[in-house]
Amino acid sequence: MAVFKLENVEDLYEIGVVLGSGHFGQVREVRERASDVLWAGKFLKLKRGAGSRLGLERKSVEKEVEILQSLQHQNIMGLKDVFESKAEVVLIIELIKGGELFDFIAEKENLTETEAIEFMKQILEGVKYMHQKNIGHFDLKPENIMLLDKHASNADIKIIDFGMAQRFIQGEEYRSLGGTPQYIAPEIINYEPLGTAADMCLSGLSPFQGETDEETLKNIVAMNYEFEPHYFSQTSNMAKDFIQKLLVKDQTTQIAKRNRSSINMKSFRKFNAKRKWRMSFNMVSACNRFTRLQLLCKARSPGEEELRDCESDQEDTATKPASLLRRRLSSNS
Ligand code: ATP
Repeated sequence: MAVFKLENVEDLYEIGVVLGSGHFGQVREVRERASDVLWAGKFLKLKRGAGSRLGLERKSVEKEVEILQSLQHQNIMGLKDVFESKAEVVLIIELIKGGELFDFIAEKENLTETEAIEFMKQILEGVKYMHQKNIGHFDLKPENIMLLDKHASNADIKIIDFGMAQRFIQGEEYRSLGGTPQYIAPEIINYEPLGTAADMCLSGLSPFQGETDEETLKNIVAMNYEFEPHYFSQTSNMAKDFIQKLLVKDQTTQIAKRNRSSINMKSFRKFNAKRKWRMSFNMVSACNRFTRLQLLCKARSPGEEELRDCESDQEDTATKPASLLRRRLSSNS
């Protein structure tokens, strides 16, 4: 079991500015008093009691901590320490100053496929490492891929947010209904037993994007996708093939085209702006979708604990954004 320190975090760390917010608390810059070294502190609110609707179950934080403790890789956010008080748990994590990879790319004039490959390589190194350790992330999406230092020439990629991650245990099945519509794997929507392959459903522009989230989810299940010429006319067949391969197809080699081709930046920036807008919009619409999925989860072999989670989430839908529901819907079966 993960050991959480009971000392007051503020005795050891000076708490600084807010770097970002999740659904269960904030991430702040913190300075270790003894060494003057800067870290990030992820402050997670805990459920106050069994009946409490707000905050996280301690065991859910323990799971995130145990997984992070077992992962030491250049492309995965490092965990230094964990503190616990009555109301919250504070994770002292590696400070990642470069922001989201997507925002960095959107600010660039141009991004060649060669540069995209460099980024992709690092993401895949991190993913391969965790998969070799039988850990699935289950929430790989642009918001969770950050850059350590965007001014560095070969900036390090860091995968963050292991709140939905799961360690696979031989002989045990794992199912989840959590995820983000554009990046979710078909086996999650179908509530089938999951493996690490569910993490490979990763892309910048979702080829499954529909007009609504429902349509997007349907497209994923039906493997109904297309490379719209407007977005992909400048993309080499090799890159398209890479995406197809993630969706199970064979690869051909077209290295020469790789350096000449570049990402359509105008479309990318438009997509990024739309993505940010959708993130807020989804908070409302996905609540409805998840409520429906919860009914589905109840209909398909729910365990006692799962039912409890579903019930508590339903109440939360009135006030909380959709991704708040994500962790609570995960279950072992
Ligand atoms: P979610 O609700 O998406 O599950 P969460 O509560 O698990 O979020 P994170 O996604 O881990 O929280 O972090 C929230 C935000 O804080 C991130 O989007 C990012 O902007 C920022 N952040 C997270 N970790 C770090 C870090 N190590 N260094 C700097 N900023 C970070």
